[in-house]
Amino acid sequence: MGNSIGENMITEELLKNRSGFEEKIRKLVGRPVLLIELDMFALPCGCAGITANTRGLEVDDLDVFEPQLLPYLKEMASNLGVKPSVVFARLVPGSSIVASLNWRVLCSRCYPEFARGEGKTPRPDLYLLQFEKRK
Ligand SMILES: [Zn+2]
Repeated sequence: MGNSIGENMITEELLKNRSGFEEKIRKLVGRPVLLIELDMFALPCGCAGITANTRGLEVDDLDVFEPQLLPYLKEMASNLGVKPSVVFARLVPGSSIVASLNWRVLCSRCYPEFARGEGKTPRPDLYLLQFEKRK
């Protein structure tokens, strides 16, 4: 006992944020969107962040509700202590279905993948919601 701030803190935060975010998105789009899994990840390349796997969310929802959605995205990152360089939706290729929302602290190798091209879709399967271009 007493050697840390509480060993269940991270899992409790994840559970709380999963249900909280799901509720906000449902209210926003007015449909039963599901947040089927909320993960924190680290990749071998050096990228790290958060992934929220979604069901029932469409790319049109992002277009329409982006201004209202952005504060929720920021809140999630700050609640989990992540300072993302990019926030993006991953789309099911060739469809308008959003498979996941992603908050990612980019490593220097992956950064160009997101920085190239203009607009919101540097790749057909990516939809950028927030991106900080390096100078
Ligand atoms: Zn990377």
